[in-house]
Amino acid sequence: MNKFKICFIGDEGVGKTSIITRFIYQSFDPDTQSTVGVDFLSKTINIENQSIRLQLWDTAGQERFRCLLPSYIRNSSLAVIVYDVTNTESFENLDFWLQTVKEIRGEDVIIFYVGNKTDLTDQRKISTEEFEKKAQEKGFIHFETSAKTGTNIKQLFNKVTLAIMNNE
Ligand code: GDP
Ligand code: MG
Repeated sequence: MNKFKICFIGDEGVGKTSIITRFIYQSFDPDTQSTVGVDFLSKTINIENQSIRLQLWDTAGQERFRCLLPSYIRNSSLAVIVYDVTNTESFENLDFWLQTVKEIRGEDVIIFYVGNKTDLTDQRKISTEEFEKKAQEKGFIHFETSAKTGTNIKQLFNKVTLAIMNNE
């Protein structure tokens, strides 16, 4: 069976663990523990008559674990860079995370941008238009998700899988 490695990166608290948990367990925990170091989960999905094993590397955003990141990024086919639509700093930090990935992989990796927590409409700071503009500048596929409601989570993982398949 084909195995695809995907790493999730971005600031602490943007919802990386919640996105993965929603996808794998169809559940949401309002009080997640912050990820320590790196967690690993996998799930098999069926797409275009193929079974594909997705290995999901859930990294911690904290400074003290940054040294662990390069090896996970190096071994992944695709990096999902996540920010929180209610947190301007996490949006601005997309550039930092992109730089981190590029330093390790050059152009040799597929990158997705994800804006999470779209359910928090009252607290939203980054509009869809602003996000689209940023993603299009870089030419990246982008998704807006809510791990809480599940909006766009399945679609995100389907698109991620197809992107890797089409790149092989
Ligand atoms: P991580 O540090 O990037 O792994 O972020 P977590 O997945 O631990 O989430 C941080 C906090 O944000 C937790 O309290 C989550 O319950 C919450 N959270 C994550 N995703 C969403 C979402 O889509 N909507 C809302 N309202 N809260 C979310
Ligand atoms: Mg986490």
